[in-house]
Amino acid sequence: MASELGIQEQVFGGEHHSGRVARPLWAAMKRGALGRCPHCGQGKLFAGFTKSVDKCSVCGEELYHHRADDLPAYLVIVIVGHIVLGAFMAVEATSTLSMWQHIAIWVPLTIALSVALLQPVKGAVIGLQWALYMHGFGGEKDATEPRPGT
Ligand SMILES: [Zn+2]
Repeated sequence: MASELGIQEQVFGGEHHSGRVARPLWAAMKRGALGRCPHCGQGKLFAGFTKSVDKCSVCGEELYHHRADDLPAYLVIVIVGHIVLGAFMAVEATSTLSMWQHIAIWVPLTIALSVALLQPVKGAVIGLQWALYMHGFGGEKDATEPRPGT
């Protein structure tokens, strides 16, 4: 019906419409969160703290296509904000700690959680983009968003 009218049917989710093999989303995100290549789960994903490798040293999968950009930082803020604020409010309601004691607990906890979560969250974002064939992970040129210096 839709094709008779010249309207292309829209299909959301999965890869059955594109002919490409569906990549396992959750497995890829988990591998990324563990700092491993989202494709093989063996090679290292990061060359530095948040610098990802250009390609997997084990399976050769190109990984520089990702556009994680600011998303990992936003997600870390959301996650850490909920944990620290929730814990602060619970402790505040059930204890008589001074303001200095609160500062001594929550400021280091916020910094430590943010540093600890940044790399795993970025890895999961790269895994997600890889699994969904985003930003050149599907083999096409990402011409609308040229890479600086190329
Ligand atoms: Zn790999």
